Amino acid sequence: MTRPAVAETTAELARLRAALPGPVALVPTMGALHEGHRTLVRAARGRAGGVVVSVFVNPTQFGPGEDLDRYPRTWDADLAALAEEGADVVFHPPVEEVYPPGAAGVTVHPGPLGDVLEGAVRPGHFAGVLTVVAKLFGLARPDLAFFGEKDYQQLTLIRAMVRELVLPLEVVGVPTVREDDGLALSSRNRYLTPEQRVTAVTLSRALRAGADAGRHGADAVLAAASAVLAGAPDLRQDYLALTDPDLGPAPSTGPARLLLAARAGGTRLIDNTSVQVGDPR
Ligand code: AMP
Repeated sequence: MTRPAVAETTAELARLRAALPGPVALVPTMGALHEGHRTLVRAARGRAGGVVVSVFVNPTQFGPGEDLDRYPRTWDADLAALAEEGADVVFHPPVEEVYPPGAAGVTVHPGPLGDVLEGAVRPGHFAGVLTVVAKLFGLARPDLAFFGEKDYQQLTLIRAMVRELVLPLEVVGVPTVREDDGLALSSRNRYLTPEQRVTAVTLSRALRAGADAGRHGADAVLAAASAVLAGAPDLRQDYLALTDPDLGPAPSTGPARLLLAARAGGTRLIDNTSVQVGDPR
């Protein structure tokens, strides 16, 4: 097992990137790596000649009062995990490398899709996400970039950015990795108390109940998921929404997406699943 080369500056990243065999894959992360991130790196390893992983807690995607300062930082363990998964280069910059002082402050505007669901609860979040992802694309110049379906709205917006800004790379979505009981892995799960951890599984249960009700129509999907959520009064729901796969209005029949966000104590959890609405034929 060889340790990945670590770049802390954009210049080092450019030098290391230039020496990688193609195609080059990028896996952006905020660190505190778990099996979900590892799965992304393995998927990248399976398709690329060179794998670059970024570990950067991006300040611009956190709103005032969010958990930027207490976001978990586990650099030594992250580097060890990335060595195990065979990453070639890890980009671990300080904030000033990504947001140099004196810059003009150009950002990527997500459009209306950035203001709904997560964006309605977290104003400015997706402008921060798209801006840092666009910078990472410019710095690492990947042929492929890997993102989790866990953050479905993020994945949808990144696909839209790549398509509409005509960026020369392929975006690859990776299915959500879950605990045995169904809880989606998340760096924030470590904040949960044992009692909240028990409650947290309600999100994936609600999604499964909704998906199982798909053949009875869109209203039945939402009713089934809501009924499960109502059984966990200590979970405060931010939203439960059924959409089409591109986050447009829900179809009366056909493929759809069910998305959910809720708080257990001070910890915000999100999850989503595909749903087939209407007659399965
Ligand atoms: P984060 O470090 O939370 O910004 O996540 C980095 C990448 O890992 C994003 O593309 C996430 O969607 C993805 N990711 C996070 N959790 C999971 C999971 N449980 N399964 C699959 N991908 C995930």
